[in-house]
Amino acid sequence: MKTEISEKYFEEAKTLMPGGVNSPVRAFNAVGRTPLFIKKAKGSKIYDEDGNEFIDYVCSWGPGILGHARDEVIEAVKEACNYGLSYGAPTKKESVLAKMIRECIPHMEMMRMVSSGTEATMSAIRAARGFTGRDMIIKFAGCYHGHSDGLLVKSGSGLLSNAAPDSAGVPKGYSETTLVAFYNDEESVKKLFEKYSDKIACVIVEPVAANMGVVLPKKGFLNFLRDITKKYGALLIFDEVITGFRLSLGGASQYFGVTPDMTTLGKIVGGGMPVGVYGGRKEIMECISPLGKVYQAGTLSGNPIAMTAGIKTLELLMNDSGIYDRIDKKAAEIEKAFLKTRLVKVNRAGSLMSAFFSEKDVTDYNSSINSDTKKYADYFSHMLENGIYVAPSQFEAMFVSDAHTDEDIKKTCDVILSYKG
Ligand SMILES: *Cc1c(COP(=O)(O)O)cnc(C)c1O
Repeated sequence: MKTEISEKYFEEAKTLMPGGVNSPVRAFNAVGRTPLFIKKAKGSKIYDEDGNEFIDYVCSWGPGILGHARDEVIEAVKEACNYGLSYGAPTKKESVLAKMIRECIPHMEMMRMVSSGTEATMSAIRAARGFTGRDMIIKFAGCYHGHSDGLLVKSGSGLLSNAAPDSAGVPKGYSETTLVAFYNDEESVKKLFEKYSDKIACVIVEPVAANMGVVLPKKGFLNFLRDITKKYGALLIFDEVITGFRLSLGGASQYFGVTPDMTTLGKIVGGGMPVGVYGGRKEIMECISPLGKVYQAGTLSGNPIAMTAGIKTLELLMNDSGIYDRIDKKAAEIEKAFLKTRLVKVNRAGSLMSAFFSEKDVTDYNSSINSDTKKYADYFSHMLENGIYVAPSQFEAMFVSDAHTDEDIKKTCDVILSYKG
């Protein structure tokens, strides 16, 4: 595989941006390779600057549920550009997208558009604190909710202690109000509520964890979170930045039948453009400025071009009743191939999946981080050299899109089956 041009571009990028990238996982550090510089993408394929072609299962880290550059989306965006790129004033499109979101996720009675998932979760937590008048929050080790200060934490030495920063540059004070529990461990949540009961504003969780590799919620875990937050008067926030419109039109809350107080969206909802959304019960969202006392704003929030891409993407999803079935079946084929190799454990929810180089089932943070990342790096190279682009990290998900053809899936399965470890 030729990579000279990517290597040349990477050398230059490294002089301009830390690590040569604008988001760390893109640097391929976890797999010990030079990142590929992408020139274009269409459907299920991406093409790098050296002219290599790959079947893509990163799909921009989730937004690409329809595949890349779907004609209808591109046409709509081009048309929208003729009317100007940004006004900093309300547009009808913001309400069009909001209504579509509410139709799919009815408990998002009211919402705010922002420009990233990070902004959505950060703002949802501020709203939860403003609404409840409480400061502490609970997050789970291994769940990622963007890079705002209070969420970049690791669990303290003892479970009942406050969290410590997980990044330089985060003052201790920012992490002190964040409590860390363990995903799929009800006892860890119970203990925190028993100790901090009326100080906890909210629990934020990825209903399917997808940032420690994909880890499914144990049966009853999400219901448990629903019950315990209600009992203590805290809000339950589902961070559906990945799962929203991925598992179903109604996201994970519909998929599992559990209704949170607030929901955050990103990735698919922007159809490839920078969009985040947070929303929930009307009485909570009415705390947001200018109606209420919780301040939150954005120069480019609700950007008309981004709204257009989101609207067209959701329209295509909402008008295609078979899509979730189709992508589920394709992902199931790939899962079967993985299992046949006997090299990995597979976790999958619909078109969202991970293959873990682990001997034990992966059911939580500890079993995930004990996976063999060296083996993953070797598997990654095998896939790449054979024309398949998967996430350059054991701890990221594999995304199957509607653009993946039967032929793509067959080729992918063949390449997986040819891997001997
Ligand atoms: C990607 C992601 C975010 C952050 O979104 P950005 O747009 O990268 O800021 C937040 N939560 C989850 C679950 C995510 O997967």
